[in-house]
Amino acid sequence: MEKLQSVRGMNDVLPDESRKWEFFEETVTKIARQYGYRNMRAPIVEHTPLFVRAIGDVTDIVEKEMYSFEDKLNGEKLTLRPELTAGLVRAAIEANLTYNGPVRIYNLGEVFRHERPQKGRYRQFNQFDVECFGFEGPDVDAELMIMTARIWKAVGIDDVRLEINSLGNTEERNAYRAKLISFYESNLTALDDEAKRRLHTNPMRILDSKVASVIEVNKGAPNLLDSLEAESRAHFDGLQQLLSEAGVAFVVNPRIVRGMDYYNRTAFEFVTERFGNPLTVCGGGRYDGLFEQLGGKPTPGIGYGMGVERVLMMIEDSVAFGQLDAYLVHAGEAARVAAGKLAEALRDAGLAVAQHAGGGSFKSQMKKADASGARFALIVGDNEAAAGTVAVKPLRDANGAPIQGEQAIITGLSVAEHIRSVA
Ligand code: ATP
Ligand code: MG
Repeated sequence: MEKLQSVRGMNDVLPDESRKWEFFEETVTKIARQYGYRNMRAPIVEHTPLFVRAIGDVTDIVEKEMYSFEDKLNGEKLTLRPELTAGLVRAAIEANLTYNGPVRIYNLGEVFRHERPQKGRYRQFNQFDVECFGFEGPDVDAELMIMTARIWKAVGIDDVRLEINSLGNTEERNAYRAKLISFYESNLTALDDEAKRRLHTNPMRILDSKVASVIEVNKGAPNLLDSLEAESRAHFDGLQQLLSEAGVAFVVNPRIVRGMDYYNRTAFEFVTERFGNPLTVCGGGRYDGLFEQLGGKPTPGIGYGMGVERVLMMIEDSVAFGQLDAYLVHAGEAARVAAGKLAEALRDAGLAVAQHAGGGSFKSQMKKADASGARFALIVGDNEAAAGTVAVKPLRDANGAPIQGEQAIITGLSVAEHIRSVA
């Protein structure tokens, strides 16, 4: 039979790689909880109009990237979520989630976009997503960036740059749009077909163009920040002051427009230069009109999506991620029985213990213990079983580096204490 393959742009995550995923997921989950964020989940499939209405029909995502299909059984038009915000807002409206006041939520999940796969760009990828529903800001705007700075530190990334911008409110954006359209109209020859097509529907997207001639023209484009009125100005100044107070470095980048229409006021990205061209690892912003646009009550909001695969590219792998405390080696019938009891008792004590399965000599089992990345090998032979003892051999330190340590003979259950005292 011919071998079957995964769908292009959709990747498997094998155990050696997955330990890094779990390290990331555990880290962000812990930090989000520390800031009062609560987990919330919405389905992977939604009605297509949700995304068209939320993201905007003249956007890359809606025009070219959505996996949309018709349900064969009832003809419903459905789409695999291309981002997480729209579904979460839909769910929040349906459940009247902000009835008792604002909420902070986080979510980790798969999203789907039909793009050309390359490094850091896939058709199924994952986002760590945070949303604050019901907050006017700019305090939560700053808070979620401060939280993200903590995440970078916790996963050992120090080469991302925070870039912020303000997209203003609807009136300010409309005034700016008009200025921008007349600017591009007087520079028509430099625009590519896509830019021309978007000129009257979504001119701000042209600011984000990757086409050389358009990038050149954009250098002279009017600046949205000049169109801000007092309130939006104060919001943006407030954000900058709060970030400075917290010691979070940022730069103002008036070119940040973001790929969805729902954003207003605060827009931001975390960008790295590690891979040559600037790569955005995390992007988001404020969406004060989105609840109403989706049929809900007026509710301000802000959130972001972090590209998990892109962040993982920046984290060095370590066998210390998800490390086992011990690998339990045993040979002999009495030893097997003693080992089984010991393993369960150690798990009761909270340790992660893999008990060797499948038999074999001590030597071959010790090889498995080494390969497992465990901190200790626990060795039980029939002699140890009779004496109620265990030989404990250190294999690696807490960073996963191999160590040469003395083997100790420990009595039964004090193994847990011994491991803890050394660990
Ligand atoms: P890009 O400009 O790179 O296409 P985007 O503006 O479309 O990014 P967002 O919609 O803001 O991206 O999504 C949030 C984050 O998700 C991005 O900052 C990025 O880290 C990640 N991301 C976006 N598209 C992909 C993809 N196809 N594969 C992997 N990660 C992605
Ligand atoms: Mg994109």
